[in-house]
Amino acid sequence: MDHSSDRSATAPAKNMAGAKQVLASHKNWVSCEQCGQVQAIAKVWATSELLCSCCNQTLSFAQGAWREKAAALVITGAVLFVISNCFVFLGLEVGAFYHEANILSGVWALVHHDYIPLAILVFVTIFLFPLFELLALCYLVLPCYFGWRLPYQITVFRWFTKAAPWSMLEIFLLGVLVTSVKLGDMATIVLGVSMVSFFALVAVLGAAYWCIDKRALWAWLQPNNCFASKKGEVLYDCNVCHALVGETVLDAVGFCPRCDNQLHRRKPNSLQKTLAYTIAAALLYIPANALPIMSMSTLLGERSDTIFSGVVALVAHDLWGIAAVVFVASLVVPVAKLIVLIYLVWSVIRGDTRAMKERVWLYKITEWVGRWSMVDVFVVTLLTGLVQFGFLGSIAPGEALLPFAAVVILTMLAAHAFDPRLIWDAAGGQEKTFNLEIENQSRGAAV
Ligand SMILES: [Zn+2]
Ligand SMILES: [Zn+2]
Repeated sequence: MDHSSDRSATAPAKNMAGAKQVLASHKNWVSCEQCGQVQAIAKVWATSELLCSCCNQTLSFAQGAWREKAAALVITGAVLFVISNCFVFLGLEVGAFYHEANILSGVWALVHHDYIPLAILVFVTIFLFPLFELLALCYLVLPCYFGWRLPYQITVFRWFTKAAPWSMLEIFLLGVLVTSVKLGDMATIVLGVSMVSFFALVAVLGAAYWCIDKRALWAWLQPNNCFASKKGEVLYDCNVCHALVGETVLDAVGFCPRCDNQLHRRKPNSLQKTLAYTIAAALLYIPANALPIMSMSTLLGERSDTIFSGVVALVAHDLWGIAAVVFVASLVVPVAKLIVLIYLVWSVIRGDTRAMKERVWLYKITEWVGRWSMVDVFVVTLLTGLVQFGFLGSIAPGEALLPFAAVVILTMLAAHAFDPRLIWDAAGGQEKTFNLEIENQSRGAAV
């Protein structure tokens, strides 16, 4: 691979205009996303895990020969995505009645019930973003395997990185499992071709994510990953491509010279934004739990369920496992997230220097787990799409569904707005640890 510094000419010219002199080079250094510590990457075995010397966060996974595997997985994923969206997903048999649905039937059912914002949210998270994700992977991984340079690959990779949390196929899969168990009691479920293909798609996409060496892919697109004006200046991490950008370059241009991502020393107004999203989510949590999340009308009458009464009904039917999943995902996780986010903001405002590693872990778990609360939204969407037997029985979404989805989205935004490096800033002198003249020599590699 060509790591010579003359590749700096390929960096976006627009970004360089503000800086007087940018020294672009390839460095085997990495800045920890969670604490900002810059350190050198040691030469290790192909499957070794590199940990941050400061906070134990995983820095990078060296995957060895990943290109072939990734290319095969991406092509398989694209084929499975087409199959998943073209055939019958689930069939439901009640006595002599049979109703079948494809993967997006629930979305159309939400439109039919005038839940347009929710229909858009579900459509975007289970179709549009996954489609973009797969197209982007095809546009990046296959050319990397064949050695083709194509236009706008850096832009595509930047958008791919930003869009990743909003693609929720694996959560939809959990929703499908919960729905199947819920309906298993009262009807016969017939697996469609799309459902089998969808299960495989989630597995293949997961494997592709695990296998792709993103740092190597960025290095293939643009080998230079360190942009500074002078030696020994404080370096900051680009949270998209993980290039190291010196403070003079950052102040002069405000963009990452490698991927064009907007850069800040710390996320701007991080605490205020986190707090605002958290308070809005906490307020919406009340109608989300007080109002019914879905209603079911049958020949025997109509029954509305809140999230909690839904869990109680599952327990009454001896479906303990599913009751636990819904209880944790829909009731425990949102409250725990709100408490953790308020605690993190409060601890940063106080300048707390205790248990910093633990707080970073708390943040990481909060960030990861938040999306999974969407499972209840998907379950109601699936039930609405499937259980449509006219006067015999049908399910409709309830008023709580919109505020509940808003709670999930707002807590995701709150976690995203929080800058975990603020936790470490309280320790004082943090800026010094960015200085490679000191750190690279004294601390060296963290393995
Ligand atoms: Zn760290
Ligand atoms: Zn970047």
